[in-house]
Amino acid sequence: MKPSLYDIDNLLPQTQCGQCGHGGCLPYAQAMLDGAPHNQCPPGGTRVINQLSQLLNRKPLDLNPDNGIEGPWELAFIRESDCIGCTKCIQACPVDAIVGSGKLMHTVLTDLCTGCGLCVAPCPVDCIDMVINPKQPSDLSNADFYAQAHESRDRMKSRELRLKKLADQKKRKHALHKAQIINPEQTQEEKIVFIQEALLRALEKNKK
Ligand code: SF4
Ligand code: SF4
Ligand code: SF4
Repeated sequence: MKPSLYDIDNLLPQTQCGQCGHGGCLPYAQAMLDGAPHNQCPPGGTRVINQLSQLLNRKPLDLNPDNGIEGPWELAFIRESDCIGCTKCIQACPVDAIVGSGKLMHTVLTDLCTGCGLCVAPCPVDCIDMVINPKQPSDLSNADFYAQAHESRDRMKSRELRLKKLADQKKRKHALHKAQIINPEQTQEEKIVFIQEALLRALEKNKK
């Protein structure tokens, strides 16, 4: 039986680092489903290549060096005394592994950091270092490796959901504001209809 997108995604490390060249684990899973080589994930290394070989019934390959090397796992470390609290790293972290708020120093929650490195480039003062993670893949059984990966994926999904809710709230607020400006005499019910129509129009526009 042909493996599903979910089966393939399930075997990826879920760091969302993009080193495979596909902008995240799920897009790479889709690419493999469409025939892309299964040796492009440096964080997964030999373990993941072997798992994918079995699932996809393909021969094992060496990691493609164009995608990177199978180095030690890393963690982000913020030099807190240099942090200006701009929050750019929080916005970049796919698994919500950084805490802090505007103009306050930020900290990485090391248990949650996948070492993807996506927070490093956006930092305007270059105060994030990648350091060696005391936990390395060789310390983990397949079961533990994938339990950790699936936890990271759950965190990414929760984050996406939260960001979508925030964006929807913002849209509703904007539409309500617009409705009040256009006609302050409208009843609450008329305003709700106005907002729903505006949201529908926005959705239609996005589809084009
Ligand atoms: S963990 Fe592997 S599959 Fe996922 S984005 Fe990074 S390189 Fe791609
Ligand atoms: S803290 Fe940085 S390295 Fe760690 S998961 Fe978040 S973005 Fe990736
Ligand atoms: S991006 Fe850099 S300066 Fe901005 S909050 Fe994060 S660590 Fe601090």
